[in-house]
Amino acid sequence: MPGFELFGDEERKEVNDVLETGVLFRYGFEGARNGHFKALEFEKKLADITGAAFSHLCSSGTAALSTALAACGIGAGDEVIVPPFTFVATFEAVIHAGAIPVFADIDETLCLNPDRLENFITPRTKAVVPVHMCGSMARIDEIKAFCDQKGLILLEDACQSLGATYQGRHLGTFGMAGCFSFDAVKTVTCGEGGGIITNTREVYDRCDQYADHGHDHLGGPDRGADDHPIIGTNFRISELNAAVGLAQLNKLDKIVETQRKHKAAIKDAMADIGDVTFRYLPDPFGDSATFLSFFLPTENRAREIAKSLAENGVPCPYWYDNNWHYFKKWHHLKELKRSAPLAFELAKDLPDYKNLVLEDTENIMKRTISMQIMLSWTQEDIDQRIKAIFKAFKI
Ligand SMILES: *Cc1c(COP(=O)(O)O)cnc(C)c1O
Repeated sequence: MPGFELFGDEERKEVNDVLETGVLFRYGFEGARNGHFKALEFEKKLADITGAAFSHLCSSGTAALSTALAACGIGAGDEVIVPPFTFVATFEAVIHAGAIPVFADIDETLCLNPDRLENFITPRTKAVVPVHMCGSMARIDEIKAFCDQKGLILLEDACQSLGATYQGRHLGTFGMAGCFSFDAVKTVTCGEGGGIITNTREVYDRCDQYADHGHDHLGGPDRGADDHPIIGTNFRISELNAAVGLAQLNKLDKIVETQRKHKAAIKDAMADIGDVTFRYLPDPFGDSATFLSFFLPTENRAREIAKSLAENGVPCPYWYDNNWHYFKKWHHLKELKRSAPLAFELAKDLPDYKNLVLEDTENIMKRTISMQIMLSWTQEDIDQRIKAIFKAFKI
């Protein structure tokens, strides 16, 4: 997953371009910037790679989600269906839009289960936000078909899955908009940053405006002459961050190819381990291969193996116990702990987060282990890992 493993002269060159001009702002300063528009270039390249018509950068993946929600017209009192296995940012963005996150079950894709969505629909449901977790995909065609049939907005959180495709089409391009993160540990990193892709001109325009105080960017060189068609905020990315991201984005093909090779070697070696089954990949060829996720038959066995892997030098996330990625540990949400009252609390009949039980999801999460795939592994590292894994399983 981490692009930071590949920092080199390319990143330094892009950053130096910016430092030499002294223009850290993505807009304006045309005379001084010596032709460098790193954010703009990054956006063009992101749209190019993903095949989306438009792309807009933000200061983080979370900001990208907030911007996309606003641009898609999702706000106060709307219910938004999200998975209970994601990074907290997904539900945070929904809450900060004034909307109400509704958690629906996942399946063995580790993403929202399209067969269960119907159970979570109410007259307030406005959108579905599947999260393509750990480098691979949800059953996105079925989720899209469901949204189309019900007239719901589909917004993809592809923050962890840049470079992944489903049947040749990039994740993030199936709905009204798709979001990526370029934070410090993502596939492509720029320190802090995020991106939105969309095929809809109006959604792009709203993103472009919302993330920059509502600026329509039509006023010419004088920003003061821009009009403000909507109320926005500041989720802008800086040129320095964009410069790093631009160099990284040029490495995406190489990153994904390396991850796939490393993952295949380990997955093949683990294929004969009796009680292991692998995460279901709707399109295995489109997996960006940032993680190898697998299931054990029971929670006890999963705990035993996670412990044994760590003891043998192969520590692996056991998400069920992680405070940040699974609903079970989100006591701050369950108890509505916050620094000040939030708009979504004004809604009548908030879901009962405290007593919510999603049995299918529990049953999957408690048996899931994920192994992060690193870019820097040598063949020797991989061989050693495989040996350590066999030892952990006592084979
Ligand atoms: C990382 C991440 C985000 C948020 O991205 P930041 O850039 O860290 O704000 C949102 N959703 C998911 C699924 C993520 O993994």
